[in-house]
Amino acid sequence: MSKTFLIDTTLCTACRGCQVACKQWHDLPAEKTRNMGSYQNPADLSYTTYKLVRMTEEEIGGKLHWLFFPDQCRHCIEAPCLETAYDENAIYRDEATGAVLYTQATKALDAEEIIGSCPYNIPRAGLDGTLTKCDMCNDRIHNGLKPACVTTCPTGTMNFGERDEMLALAETRLKKVKQRYPKAMLLDPDDLNVIYLTAFDPALYSEYAVADAGRSPRKASASRIAASDKNMTRSEAIRKMMGPFGKLMKA
Ligand code: SF4
Ligand code: SF4
Ligand code: SF4
Repeated sequence: MSKTFLIDTTLCTACRGCQVACKQWHDLPAEKTRNMGSYQNPADLSYTTYKLVRMTEEEIGGKLHWLFFPDQCRHCIEAPCLETAYDENAIYRDEATGAVLYTQATKALDAEEIIGSCPYNIPRAGLDGTLTKCDMCNDRIHNGLKPACVTTCPTGTMNFGERDEMLALAETRLKKVKQRYPKAMLLDPDDLNVIYLTAFDPALYSEYAVADAGRSPRKASASRIAASDKNMTRSEAIRKMMGPFGKLMKA
């Protein structure tokens, strides 16, 4: 059984310890940033930022709420990026942990196509086209450690373990949180190895907090069609699936 995260956003204080720990473990550089009118920093995930604590301010029920969302790859149980790549030298799953992993061979893939296939808008490309994202700290897990972001989190927001244990913890926490926030929910728990618990409508936290059905299914199914149509490349199949929007894609 795969490993799973439970990210309980109701406990997050936006200290950003997880964001920094991720950079430290992967030896990733800091980025030049600018004030964008929010405490969120940097503005988005990038080739060198695999974990980002998103921050929004919302008035809900006449009260101001700070909503924090530690964003990262969901390690999807059926991963559209992996299906779209169709190249296990570039994107593969570690069956022991369930981690979806990217290699240097992603450089040869169509970056736009892979990024567009992700329903959570996670992968990012470097200048040479190589793709990166959260790797579940797979090296740590194989050495008996927890992911760096989980180890460093001081509030209990970040949890990690066997899937059945995390699903049970998620249900326990949901029941408790619902007493205070009746609209609390778990986000796509059956489909993901990274399960979020939010107190409010997930759309308030991040545009891609839940799967954007407009991104993934079209491209994933296009890749399947391409695999069965020997006369059509996968990019051509995707354009066909997307209809008029396909004309906007890179030739
Ligand atoms: S370390 Fe924990 S509390 Fe701090 S920002 Fe990350 S998830 Fe939130
Ligand atoms: S969240 Fe996106 S990048 Fe991560 S496994 Fe799923 S499709 Fe791939
Ligand atoms: S699991 Fe590892 S790579 Fe993924 S966000 Fe956490 S620290 Fe970063």
